[in-house]
Amino acid sequence: MQVPAPFDYVRATSVADALDLLERHGPESRVVAGGHSLLPMMKLRLARPEWLIDINDVAELDHVTRDGDWLRVGALTRHATLLSSALVGELFPIVHDAERVIADPVVRNRGTIGGSLGQADPAEDLTTVCDVLRARVVVTGRAGERVIGMDEFHRGPYETACEQSELITEVRFPIRPRSGSAYEKVERRVGDWAVAAAGALLVLADDGTVADATIGLTALGLEGCAVDAAAVLLGAHPSEEVFAEAGRLAAAASSPVEDQRGPVDYKRHLADELTRRVLRSAATRAGAGVLTATTGG
Ligand SMILES: Cc1cc2nc3c(=O)[nH]c(=O)nc-3n(C[C@H](O)[C@H](O)[C@H](O)COP(=O)(O)OP(=O)(O)OC[C@H]3O[C@@H](n4cnc5c(N)ncnc54)[C@H](O)[C@@H]3O)c2cc1C
Repeated sequence: MQVPAPFDYVRATSVADALDLLERHGPESRVVAGGHSLLPMMKLRLARPEWLIDINDVAELDHVTRDGDWLRVGALTRHATLLSSALVGELFPIVHDAERVIADPVVRNRGTIGGSLGQADPAEDLTTVCDVLRARVVVTGRAGERVIGMDEFHRGPYETACEQSELITEVRFPIRPRSGSAYEKVERRVGDWAVAAAGALLVLADDGTVADATIGLTALGLEGCAVDAAAVLLGAHPSEEVFAEAGRLAAAASSPVEDQRGPVDYKRHLADELTRRVLRSAATRAGAGVLTATTGG
């Protein structure tokens, strides 16, 4: 199938208007943002909404703002906007790492962060980034706002805590001093979905040891973060030795499936290798010197 089933279409002018429209058109209505995930699913008849509620005119959802110790990103913020934002790159280089390898400029010019999280595709890059950064998702409904941690927002593949009558309105990222973050992906060809990818955040204490760490994997069958892998970093000085142990544990926590992108062993190997690489980059970006075996670490 390459043609969607018939549907009606309406443009929302504000968040309040979008919520009215969702209520009026009921359970068979769907929000459309960039349309780069929803429309292909409609063409394949995997989604058959009767009404599409277009939120592209809702300017209040399109912003990137620093607010104290938080970066607030509106749900309608495009991939391209995130990639071109110096503020985003400075605070969260992991976002730029990921955005550089998400699809191509055509998709990045339309696709949004709200749509990416709303789609909840297990191979979606921004989901891992948001997991790793411990982002909070703001969901707005008739009763007001709910602020939901990533661990609760995603309930499994293609399923989120955002109810059909609600809108994802913002994603909030905590800004951590002395932190560094990184993302690396292996893809079959430029612009493709991940064969496998990994992301990491390291926060350093005053003495240079790791005060906090998170590690996430993409397309590797891990829901949420690799908790045991991150735990071995806590209290340690960043070193090749401890990164190797974290990589080993991340690979052990992964649960990849064989598909056209590769066999299980290859993907497990990528989980290990990519975890080490992103930890190295995150440590360097946090300002740490990474100890190698020859320097005593
Ligand atoms: C060719 C191609 C290659 C791609 N490659 C990659 C890739 O390598 N990595 C990657 O991560 N992604 C990739 N994508 C997906 C891309 O990033 C999409 O832009 C993104 O997944 C969805 O964003 P969207 O704004 O287009 O969402 P839409 O398609 O508009 O919506 C997706 C879902 O989210 C819901 N939704 C959207 N906005 C809201 C909101 N504010 N509140 C509540 N629900 C909402 C919709 O109802 C729908 O269910 C690719 C897409 C294409 C077409």
